[in-house]
Amino acid sequence: MLTVDQLSVHYGPVRAVKKVSLAVQAGEIVAVLGANGAGKSSILNACLGLAPRSAGSITLDGARIDKLSTEAIVRLGLTLVPEGRRVFSGLTVAQNLSLGASAIGKDRAVALGSLDWIFSLFPRLAERRAQLAGTLSGGEQQMLAIGRALMSKPRLLLLDEPSLGLAPNIVDLIFDLIIGLRKEGFTFLLVEQNAELALDTCDRAYLVMSGAVAAQGTPDLFRQNDLVGHSHFAAS
Ligand code: ATP
Repeated sequence: MLTVDQLSVHYGPVRAVKKVSLAVQAGEIVAVLGANGAGKSSILNACLGLAPRSAGSITLDGARIDKLSTEAIVRLGLTLVPEGRRVFSGLTVAQNLSLGASAIGKDRAVALGSLDWIFSLFPRLAERRAQLAGTLSGGEQQMLAIGRALMSKPRLLLLDEPSLGLAPNIVDLIFDLIIGLRKEGFTFLLVEQNAELALDTCDRAYLVMSGAVAAQGTPDLFRQNDLVGHSHFAAS
């Protein structure tokens, strides 16, 4: 479904991603693991046209998307939930969700249908639909950020550090949701620093070190070879 081939990302002279290749098949949950600064976010951002690709290609269902605008990429069915769950704090929960639908120009009826769907996935958001997003707890803001991304009914969701800074019960809720949505046909590429959690959830994982893929394989392979040991997560 998504193929990243020999991707490099430069920020001025800094080469943050070095010839990274990875693939996500429809229906998979794929994890990208690695230390702070390894380049994980840059890979996800480049897929959405939000980080400067200096070499390599990104294709969705065989068609190149690396020269398209972010808006066009979202319309093709890719969405990103960025690190730090950037919700619009001065808007209500419902308004934040509506913006997720408007990103792909959905008409009002379809948007309202999506809204009901999101509220059924996250009853906590339904109870707080008129509350300003800035006054939600961190966990609720993460639910809102994921809900907003789901409003465009993406086929492939890119999640950047969905567990970061959240209480264990909220993390469980969010990962249960990811597993549930995969059963409904959604596909996930997720970046996680919590390697154990990611390996419990994903079908395959990539370990990124200093901007390059250092290992890839099934969760079993990662565990058998202790690929998530401390040395691999030392600052890169
Ligand atoms: P973290 O988990 O801390 O977010 P990461 O693995 O996602 O780390 P990136 O955020 O992709 O890593 O960063 C990789 C490298 O690129 C880092 O050295 C970072 O400082 C640099 N970098 C990221 N974004 C920019 C930017 N907009 N301008 C300049 N350098 C950047």
